[in-house]
Amino acid sequence: MPELPEVETIAQGLKPLLLGRVIARARVLDPISTPQGADLFARRLAKARIRDVRRRAKLLLLDLERPGKPDLFLAVHLRMTGGLVADLDSDEVRRFSRVRFELADGGSFVFTDIRRFGTCLALTAPELASWPFFATLGPEPLEMDAEGFVGRFQGRNKAVKAALLDQTVLAGVGNIYADESLFRAGIRPMAKAASLSAPRLQGLHRHLQEVLAQAIRENGSSIRDYRDAGGNAGAFQNSFRVYGRAGEPCVVCGTKLRGTKVGGRSTTYCPKCQKG
Ligand SMILES: [Zn+2]
Repeated sequence: MPELPEVETIAQGLKPLLLGRVIARARVLDPISTPQGADLFARRLAKARIRDVRRRAKLLLLDLERPGKPDLFLAVHLRMTGGLVADLDSDEVRRFSRVRFELADGGSFVFTDIRRFGTCLALTAPELASWPFFATLGPEPLEMDAEGFVGRFQGRNKAVKAALLDQTVLAGVGNIYADESLFRAGIRPMAKAASLSAPRLQGLHRHLQEVLAQAIRENGSSIRDYRDAGGNAGAFQNSFRVYGRAGEPCVVCGTKLRGTKVGGRSTTYCPKCQKG
């Protein structure tokens, strides 16, 4: 599932390709991807000019302007297997295209989704602001200082990993970067957030920022279906220390890594390096 670094990589890759270009029309190939209805979605996007391509949490946002009409946002929620690629024609893109955005100058970009859980929404500014999912998102982890981060975890009586995954506490972190940052910080995923001292939470803040920044530099983690805007794989999966490695030896101490569930999500940790 694409998390913050993967969505950021897609946004950074698309931005130079799409900035200033005009959507001539949106061709909805699979209506399940446009819960507003294919007609309304397509009508809203016609003749919209792309002003910005960015990320908020795990959402891709295209800022759009339309002649004589209110500004619009194309919000793309990738969920499990969604992707957004520009000017790319491959068998896989053709097979899993759900929405094709045809550009006025002849190019295109495409929303692809193998498992079809992802969605594309065309929203006005008030609609975006009042969308409950969007309105309740917590702050961006790369834009928080240590003090703000500690404050969001202190007093929370749930597992620290469950708090990291809670999008209202912090936006954009999923299973991969939760496990990897907790390992680097030496904190057990099931430790109650409220039981952790401020210095340990400050350590988690630092390691989470480092791991996210490194993953963005390496164009994200390609497990299963994630590809960047040009259809290429990321490289951060080669830097995983715990994620998906249950039963294998810890890279630091050699102890066998343990697999468990925290908040219903599969979780891997080192019983020696990570303390409660
Ligand atoms: Zn270890």
